[in-house]
Amino acid sequence: MQTPQEKAAGWIERNHTLMAWAVTSQERKATYIGSLQREQTGLKCDCVCPACGGRLQAINAGKPIPKVPAGKTPRPHFRHDVGQQYESCLIKMSQIVALQLLLQEKAIYLPPQTVSFLVVGASGQIYTGTSHCDGLTMDVAAREWIDEHEAKITLQDGRVVWLRLFGTVSSNPAQPGEAVITHLPFSNKPSKASLERQAEFTNLMELAQDVAARDPRGLLDLVRLYTRPIQTELLLSCAKSPPHGGKADIAPHQLFMPRVPLVLTSHSHYPQLDETQFEVDLAKDPILPGPWYRERYAKALSEVGSGKKSGAWEQDRNHSVAAILPWGIACVFGGNHSIAAGILAGEGVVTPCEAWDMSGLLAKVRCDGIHYVEIETGKPICKMHDPKMGAVFEIGRLLEQHQIKPLRRL
Ligand SMILES: [Zn+2]
Repeated sequence: MQTPQEKAAGWIERNHTLMAWAVTSQERKATYIGSLQREQTGLKCDCVCPACGGRLQAINAGKPIPKVPAGKTPRPHFRHDVGQQYESCLIKMSQIVALQLLLQEKAIYLPPQTVSFLVVGASGQIYTGTSHCDGLTMDVAAREWIDEHEAKITLQDGRVVWLRLFGTVSSNPAQPGEAVITHLPFSNKPSKASLERQAEFTNLMELAQDVAARDPRGLLDLVRLYTRPIQTELLLSCAKSPPHGGKADIAPHQLFMPRVPLVLTSHSHYPQLDETQFEVDLAKDPILPGPWYRERYAKALSEVGSGKKSGAWEQDRNHSVAAILPWGIACVFGGNHSIAAGILAGEGVVTPCEAWDMSGLLAKVRCDGIHYVEIETGKPICKMHDPKMGAVFEIGRLLEQHQIKPLRRL
């Protein structure tokens, strides 16, 4: 013979798809059905569904669960006032609840150096990413909801941790339907743009990992893909700017951390390689010229290339290119306008006049999607401004691991 409590528990088990949580319509605060009073029954609960935005009725609010006769009156729950409850409504709500539960912790464990963000599944499992702080457990002094996606925890020593819920689930190894909570230790409030850059970096790196696992030779195509927007921007700049207003070419030290001391980022501080081992195919390789003078650009575009006045693209003394390894990016020191014309005509091969192995930079620095970080100390060196170049930086590490050598003359 089952007790009423056991019957009620069994009923709940069978009806686990009932929505037990909602957010309040004004403050967007996650609210448990069990916290409501009788007089908040129906639309008086003033709650909405965070996924579809629909108004919710509180059914049987304020009734203790064991007193609900099994099988007859449903246990307290939220019901959509108009329309139906979709699976996405429950998933979204469970994500918010996961964030709420994390926020209620009295202490928070901040993982060690190799961790910069936590990914928390709704199942409660915590997955870790990359970071720059020592592992420690800190008491929580204050907590505050910013909106239903974001919360702020103040630690006892005054430092602030922002927790933010991402709506989409693409970060491995979380499963579909699980919440992904990004935890940014000790930063000021991250801007929306910075969170978007971080998400973009994560996605770009996931594709790179996927390609590397299938066949790492494809990583070279990803370097081409991720640098192409910069190449296009440089090629276009001269066309859309005043006659002498095009962007300058990108020097090796400007590729990843443009405003960091040259002792770290200048190619000349790294080993020089035999440049005759390399060649740059203008049609496909990542080369970054900066045509800046409109008249020269017009002349090069109209004269250089097969079928035009000057004929097929040929290297001359004016063309000065440095191959930067291990990424296989070519920086242009001279001949910007005709190199740009060769890229656009899809023809021409250049032997670099210099080649540099900057893999030593990868031994000192890593990119975590927020910052470039000094590996030895874990300290941020500078912000990551461009997720594509941040990803290219880390792809350099993969190229090394898999011994893929770009720009090699065959
Ligand atoms: Zn809904």
